[in-house]
This record gives sequence, structure tokens and C-alpha cells, in this order.
Amino acid sequence: MGNYIKEIVRRYTLKYNTRNPFKLAELLGIEIQLGTPGCDGCYMFLKNHRYIFLDQNLNGSELLQVMAHELGHAILHKKQNCYFIRNKTFLLNSKTEMEANLFAAELLIDNDIILEHPEYTICQLSRLLGYEEKLVELWTQNRTN
Ligand SMILES: [Zn+2]
Repeated sequence: MGNYIKEIVRRYTLKYNTRNPFKLAELLGIEIQLGTPGCDGCYMFLKNHRYIFLDQNLNGSELLQVMAHELGHAILHKKQNCYFIRNKTFLLNSKTEMEANLFAAELLIDNDIILEHPEYTICQLSRLLGYEEKLVELWTQNRTN
């Protein structure tokens, strides 16, 4: 599963030349709406269109992480709806949630940054990058097995 997702992310980032999930969504014709959807974010497939709803009150790095997760659903699980609730979604171990989290980790974390700091712990990397430790941990796990 890990290599498959790594490969998908690699293909998209090479093709569109960006790791920014907002830019990717725009290029892929996925609609993004900021508002107060009642969750941190959700993905929906409606009338053959892909929509991502995001909570406008999230801060920059939270917004990026939720967006990257939802983009993972839009690309990997096009026809399934998903609701993202922070601090809960990372604990879910359903296959689709795991895949969306891994997609987010692969998209947001650039190899080079981690290679430049080989001595850093997950906690230090998490602070350096501004993302949740869980995301960095997923990224690291995906390279060791
Ligand atoms: Zn999800």
C-alpha cells in the first residue's frame, strides 16, 4: 500500500510540478469551499464533481494537512465521502483513512528536508515542518518497511 501511494504522489507532483494540495486540486478541477462545514474538512462526490469543504478557522499548517488528506480521498477514493475530524481521523485505522493520511504525508513532506536532518527525531522534524508528529511518523514508517 505504501509504495503504491508513494508512486501516485510522485506521478502527480511530477506532472503538475507542485506539492501544494490547493494548487493540485485546482489543476484537477476539484472544487474547494472554505466555510464552516461542521468538521475540519470533508470530501464529497456530488453529481460527478469532486468537492472539498474546509473549516475556515483552521490555521495555515492545519489547513494544509486537512486539505492534503481530503485531496488523497479525491484522488484515491473518488466516490466515497469522508469527514475529517482532527485528532480523531489520525486514529482511525480504516483502510481508506490510512491511505488518505499516507497520501498527505507523502505529498506534504519533501524527501530533501528530512535527508538534510538525518539526526532529527520525529518530534524535532514535526516542529521543523510544522506538521503533526503522526504525519511525520507515517512518512518515516513508509520508508522503513
Ligand atoms: Zn478521511
